[in-house]
Amino acid sequence: MRIQAEPVFLRLSTPFRIAHGTSTERNNVLVHVDSGVGVAAITPYYPAQVPDVLAYVCDQRTQQALDTDIRFIEDILDALPEGPAPARAAIEIALHDLWAQTLGQPLYRLWGLNPARAPYSTFTISMAEENEFRQRVQEAARYPLLKIKLGTGTLEGDEALVRMAREESNARLCVDANAAWTVDQAAEIIPRLAAYDLMFIEQPLARHDITGWHTLARRLPAGMPPLIADESIHDSRDILPLHGAADGINIKLAKCGGLREARRMIALARTLGMKVMLGCMIESTVGVTAAAHLAPLVDFADLDGFLTVTNDPYEGGVIWDNGRLHLPDAPGLGVHRHSQEHA
Ligand SMILES: [Mg+2]
Repeated sequence: MRIQAEPVFLRLSTPFRIAHGTSTERNNVLVHVDSGVGVAAITPYYPAQVPDVLAYVCDQRTQQALDTDIRFIEDILDALPEGPAPARAAIEIALHDLWAQTLGQPLYRLWGLNPARAPYSTFTISMAEENEFRQRVQEAARYPLLKIKLGTGTLEGDEALVRMAREESNARLCVDANAAWTVDQAAEIIPRLAAYDLMFIEQPLARHDITGWHTLARRLPAGMPPLIADESIHDSRDILPLHGAADGINIKLAKCGGLREARRMIALARTLGMKVMLGCMIESTVGVTAAAHLAPLVDFADLDGFLTVTNDPYEGGVIWDNGRLHLPDAPGLGVHRHSQEHA
């Protein structure tokens, strides 16, 4: 099979400010395997960058792994070398697209999934000054689930954002602290935020603070919103250490390395009685659509990462209908090249 990498520079209509920093554009690398397409979403705060993806695509062992009949996709996935998660994810997505195209079915159907079971997606509101923040919430008022990014630097500032969101919208709210709090801060603010009937609270603590997660779980009173681990969970090996401390995991293809690993993570989390959320990076509809094919298996979806991209080379795929996710019924992922190339 022929593999090709295509770096793309995605521009965003709205600056995206979270606890890790502010972005107005993001790098992605589209990977084509014959007629299949995948994407590596590059994130400034994770180590893998564009040259790492290109190196993985050009690796002799990657090329050799692709020298197999696509119908035996599991053999190909077994043969792919270890490598940066976004790069592996890109090739895995492209292979699944090609595999499902070859079998003439949408990917979710080959997995036996009912697209009507996909949960509504949250819509993310990143941090901003008060007037702009209120305006963004108002503009998103028609969406039923809003995810508020926290990590302003003070607990008062964080709670103020949630209070403003509550004042401006009737949506169900959830929050993502993006690793901004210490254990003491989290233990103080989470019971206060619980008063806003949050659907969940994502990543309160630093990525590697596994001990902190367990300490926090012991210190919180009963009845708190579920705590979902995002930065602390990359692949299935990270789940067991957080069992008993996090209530759920946030799976992203660019973190875990692809759709097969994502399905393993879902199975393990379910075995452990944990909730499952499906997220994405800021990325092309190619990546969001790939994740959306798994959405019927999860409790929470956060698949809005393509909505502010103004120059996505791909279209079709998952349709965002005010938070409701409609999966495509074309064979494969169901995405296709944008009819007009962006300037
Ligand atoms: Mg998150």
